[in-house]
Amino acid sequence: MLSPSARFSALALLAIVAPATIVAILGYVSIRQWEASSELLYREQARDMATMAADKVETTLRRAEDAFLDRLQAVLQSGVPPAGALDDLLAGAPLIRRLYLIGQRGELLYPREWREGDRAVFGPLVSGSALRRLARDGKREETASNQVCLALLTQHGGQPVVAAFLRDPETLRREILETTLGALESSTIIAVLDPGGRMVYTRAPIGDAQRVLSVGFREALPHWQLAVYQAPGASPRQAVRRQVMLFTGALGVLVAVIVAGLVMTWRLTRRETEMARLKSDFVANVSHDLKTPLSVIRMFGETLEMGRVNDEGRRQEYYRVITREGERLSRLIDNVLDFSRIEGGRQTYDMTPTAVEPLIRGTLEAFAYPLAQQGFKVEVNVAADLPEVTMDADAVGQALANLIDNAIKYSGDDRALTLDARVADGSLVITVGDRGLGIAPEEQAKIFEKFYRVGRSDTQGRRGSGVGLALVRHIAEAHGGTIAVESAPGHGSRFSLRLPLGGS
Ligand code: ADP
Repeated sequence: MLSPSARFSALALLAIVAPATIVAILGYVSIRQWEASSELLYREQARDMATMAADKVETTLRRAEDAFLDRLQAVLQSGVPPAGALDDLLAGAPLIRRLYLIGQRGELLYPREWREGDRAVFGPLVSGSALRRLARDGKREETASNQVCLALLTQHGGQPVVAAFLRDPETLRREILETTLGALESSTIIAVLDPGGRMVYTRAPIGDAQRVLSVGFREALPHWQLAVYQAPGASPRQAVRRQVMLFTGALGVLVAVIVAGLVMTWRLTRRETEMARLKSDFVANVSHDLKTPLSVIRMFGETLEMGRVNDEGRRQEYYRVITREGERLSRLIDNVLDFSRIEGGRQTYDMTPTAVEPLIRGTLEAFAYPLAQQGFKVEVNVAADLPEVTMDADAVGQALANLIDNAIKYSGDDRALTLDARVADGSLVITVGDRGLGIAPEEQAKIFEKFYRVGRSDTQGRRGSGVGLALVRHIAEAHGGTIAVESAPGHGSRFSLRLPLGGS
């Protein structure tokens, strides 16, 4: 059965994890849709932009060529043109790299003769049938094969004349493509490819960019293409993925924080419940510990008072019992008072150089009666020449008394107590050993916590408040030292109090 706090935490966890899962699933679905539609939208926009850019290039190119042809027509209309006037016209039109004027019967009118290899290129285009087609279809025609442009003009006197020209690639790139495409307000990478697929112009270095799409130009540049590229990582799909990762990460952190908070609250409440239980046990244990010696004292006191004990030996025995129980009471009260002083941060220590052996023997002396009565075998080994150690002798004596008391309390049939004192690694080490019940490994760290008592039936029967070892640890640490235990269930325990030489 779960405790109320655990039930609350489990419910709270469910209340958070369930909505978080639903949000995550919904988020995932809508993100997939977003991803697909953003990709589509991007492609549409890119296509629109590319078509618009290609149109702009065509218009600019046509406008430049029309202006040239208009000027040429004007020269032709003015009579038989002197070759010099045509040369001047060409010099002012860098876009036109080569110009030939051909008469109705295919005769060359300008320049005087064909340039090397040009006849082979232009000849077939100005054959009779080609000219008829040109006359029928309109003013101009661009041929794909070698980018020769043709225009049908009229001479002075009305005879038709064909102007055939080639564009200058460098001027085309610089004055048409660069001025038109370079001015576009878009960060997209655009390139112009000629019919051979060669990149004639790019707005920015292509690098590892991927081609997204391409659109063709129309009549002015047939078979040329305008291609749109995308830098690596710049696709809308990738941008969405980055958002998704960010969103998932943030959601994950949020859930983790909430879960950690809940687990911590649950642990705290569990600890508090445990503490409350330990405290109430403590009150019951202390009351019981106070009552037992008090009733013994009262009983023996009353018996003596009534004068019923005539035997002097027995009387002495009764006095000893009263004294011993009184001592036990003082120890218990001291323990509880010191513990409460330490908890309230009011404990002070009076550090003075102290001889170790007298302190050990004096503390042991207080237990002489129970040790003898219960038949304990006691062994004390104090190293010779132990230096004086700076300490609060009362506090260390109290710590030792607690360790000896426990050794007696938690011994079984094998009753032996050993007390060793030596110097090791710059510290005084006092070890109290027994061959009693021992402590299970998983309990060994907990026994130093306040109010903690090992919950076994064989230890539960023994009196105790659960603050003795907590007090020992406080005292050890106040001296800059430590307390440690080595123990095996059924074989006994060894508690080692380590105090630095010269105090803390
Ligand atoms: P208590 O008043 O219960 O003795 P302590 O703080 O002195 O409180 O000890 C805590 C617990 O540690 C004890 O309840 C006991 O279970 C265990 N313990 C302490 N000393 C010994 C020992 N020498 N042998 C076995 N168990 C011990």
